[in-house]
Amino acid sequence: MNNNDIIIIGGGLGGLTTGALLAKEGWQVTVLEKNHIVGGGLQNFSRHGIHFDTGMH
Ligand SMILES: Cc1cc2nc3c(=O)[nH]c(=O)nc-3n(C[C@H](O)[C@H](O)[C@H](O)COP(=O)(O)OP(=O)(O)OC[C@H]3O[C@@H](n4cnc5c(N)ncnc54)[C@H](O)[C@@H]3O)c2cc1C
Repeated sequence: MNNNDIIIIGGGLGGLTTGALLAKEGWQVTVLEKNHIVGGGLQNFSRHGIHFDTGMH
């Protein structure tokens, strides 16, 4: 953690976009996400071969 300039809590649309923009500007960014995949409200998932599109369209 010592080498990180910025820590963003939450890897949804807001956190990932902010992180990408700051990284592009040269900041060292870490995004902390509580779930096992990022995306927040934009996630989708598959169960038994069926795709569930639960995010925005
Ligand atoms: C079914 C559905 C359809 C939608 N359709 C549209 C649409 O058509 N158009 C549109 O513009 N918007 C739509 N939205 C809204 C859009 O999904 C949200 O506006 C957007 O995802 C918000 O992004 P966010 O990064 O602010 O929050 P989120 O996507 O909610 O991300 C927050 C992230 O933070 C994480 N988090 C929370 N607490 C912690 C913690 N303590 N530590 C670590 N991580 C944490 C969460 O796990 C999550 O990944 C829809 C939402 C839903 C649910």
